[in-house]
Amino acid sequence: MQQVEIREWWLWGFAVTVTLGLTAGIVSLTFPGNHLLQNSEWLDLKEWVRGLACLVLLFDIYTVYQHLQLQRIRRELTERNQLFEIITENAADMIAVIDSSGNRLYNSSAYLKVLGYSPEELKLSSSVEQIHPEDQQRVLEAADKARITGRGERLEYRMRHKDGTWRVLESVATAIQNEEGPTERLVIVNRDITERKRAEESLAHNALHDALTNLPNRTLFLDRVRHALALSQRHTGYKFAVLFIDLDEFKVFNDSLGHAAGDVLLVQISRRLTISIRGVDTIARSGPMQGTNTFASEESLARLGGDEFTILLEDIRDCGDAIRVAERIQERLSIPFVVEGQNIVTTASIGIAFCAASYANSEDLVRDAEIAMYRAKREGKARCQVFDNAMHTLAVKRLRLETDLRRALELGEFRVHYQPIVSLHTGMIAGFEALTRWQRPEGILAPIEFIAVAEEIGLIIPMNRQLLREACQHLRSWQSEFPSCPPLTMSVNITSREFAQPDLASEIGKALEETGVDPGCVQLEIVERIAMGDAEKSGHVLSRLKALGVRLSIDDFGTGYSSLSRLRRIPVDTLKIDRAFISSINSDPESREIVRIIIMLAHNLGLKVVAEGTETQEHINLLKQLNCEMAQGYFFSRPADDQAMLRLLASNRIARAASVGG
Ligand code: C2E
Ligand code: MG
Ligand code: MG
Repeated sequence: MQQVEIREWWLWGFAVTVTLGLTAGIVSLTFPGNHLLQNSEWLDLKEWVRGLACLVLLFDIYTVYQHLQLQRIRRELTERNQLFEIITENAADMIAVIDSSGNRLYNSSAYLKVLGYSPEELKLSSSVEQIHPEDQQRVLEAADKARITGRGERLEYRMRHKDGTWRVLESVATAIQNEEGPTERLVIVNRDITERKRAEESLAHNALHDALTNLPNRTLFLDRVRHALALSQRHTGYKFAVLFIDLDEFKVFNDSLGHAAGDVLLVQISRRLTISIRGVDTIARSGPMQGTNTFASEESLARLGGDEFTILLEDIRDCGDAIRVAERIQERLSIPFVVEGQNIVTTASIGIAFCAASYANSEDLVRDAEIAMYRAKREGKARCQVFDNAMHTLAVKRLRLETDLRRALELGEFRVHYQPIVSLHTGMIAGFEALTRWQRPEGILAPIEFIAVAEEIGLIIPMNRQLLREACQHLRSWQSEFPSCPPLTMSVNITSREFAQPDLASEIGKALEETGVDPGCVQLEIVERIAMGDAEKSGHVLSRLKALGVRLSIDDFGTGYSSLSRLRRIPVDTLKIDRAFISSINSDPESREIVRIIIMLAHNLGLKVVAEGTETQEHINLLKQLNCEMAQGYFFSRPADDQAMLRLLASNRIARAASVGG
């Protein structure tokens, strides 16, 4: 613009000078008093003057033309300037122009909006002043590079807001070009990406942390174990352990108080755990990380989901250190929690896996700690267990069993076998107990091998639902083929898992209705420990079952050490004396006495008694003497399939008829 103006001044100055000069010439030449010239010369002069006047005219026309051109250029430049101003002043991005020494030449008004500084304030400061000290060097290098190449790379750096907070900017610098190439001046376009950065960081955080407790999740925990594993492989003295913590009975708490309260408890537990591992650095370091590492930082606690927490204990001496921490955790957890005004007492089962050269990946360590935790649970909960190889073998076996069990249900490999229950008064089959068998390609498997696992994985529920229907169908057909008074009965076993099912009674009611059996002919066997465990709760479930019209038996009676007076308060019909007493009834007077008392007491309460595991004639004779009304055992028949029972029923009835007839 300035150049255009100078050019114009020159043009006008030149035009005026030439015009004035020529005009003066013309005037002096044509002045009438001028007689210096001859007549002929006067004529030539006229021509000259005419010629000069034409030149002046042409020159002036040219000058006016140039002036118009320059005005057009000026207009265009003004328009461009306005456009630049509109763009820069309205852009959300902050635009700056700086010179070679970093002095600010221009700052768009977006600086005020984004960083709180007015262009005037910025003019008083250098361009690096507000940049984070850690980023300054990078920014200066990028500016130098942009001056050399013409365009710099995309750069992220932090700049201080007027309020003192840091904003993250993304910027690109471009060198201003002229005819000779890039100049030393840079145009920098900065974009505020603080929010985007924050969102990205929060996404990254969420991907690696548990939303409820904000503790690291499985992915992050495994990554940390991976690092520890790599460190232990590099330094033989570096040892670490993984603790797997699972709360005992958390499900019960969650189901009874609700999930919101469950969440509150989990958060409180995570805090307790954090405190438990904080400050456990009282163990002398022996490893190569001595003095450099913390024994267990808060960062090494993770929540894998549900009520499962894990801890990575780093740089420990031996497994004893890990056990000490586990015990400390148990101690801390034993202090009651207060959730919704209620005192909650909880315990945890803890599994420990200690690092070993054989571990190839972090998943294996966590898995082994979990296996050890399961062992702790099975051994009575509220304790800790250290993983060993025998556990691994067992765990693999069990895993296979679980998979096979699930498949067996789909393939229909479960069979129902029956064992007769015989009346000792008449010698007639009074009923049957339905017992599950697993028909595998390699042979039949007894329930002792799989019922407990089926129970743990919840498979027992669909399994026994099937069994109940099949047993009821057989009962109906046997009852119609062999009518008797009282009619034949069918006993089925109820496990603790089923007993805890809220819809147990309605499920059984449905099966009875569908198969059309008389509920009074169905006996539900519940082991003593469950039936008489929690008096209030079990009494409630038993009453609901009783309301279906079925009969209830206490199975394996005598093994649960429950108070006999309790029997009075629960609605049972039959006691099944555990076979352990029957097997020694002949040899051990004490057993005999126990059986005698149980029978007497049962009769006093109006209950019937079934003796389980009767194997010999002596057993039968003694039981008859003791006035026991029913017996079940190998003496009469081993459990067998329905066809075998049909044959047995036929021969039993014929034999009975013959004996009555004879
Ligand atoms: P239980 O209910 O006490 O069943 C009686 C067990 O004693 C059966 O073992 C039976 O075969 C065995 N037994 C019967 N007579 C004699 C005898 O004279 N001598 C000896 N030594 N044993 C005898 P089984 O079939 O192996 O069942 C074991 C346990 O598994 C059962 O004990 C029951 O608690 C459970 N069970 C079996 N089938 C099922 C089922 O379908 N569902 C549920 N929930 N539990 C089942
Ligand atoms: Mg039973
Ligand atoms: Mg039994």
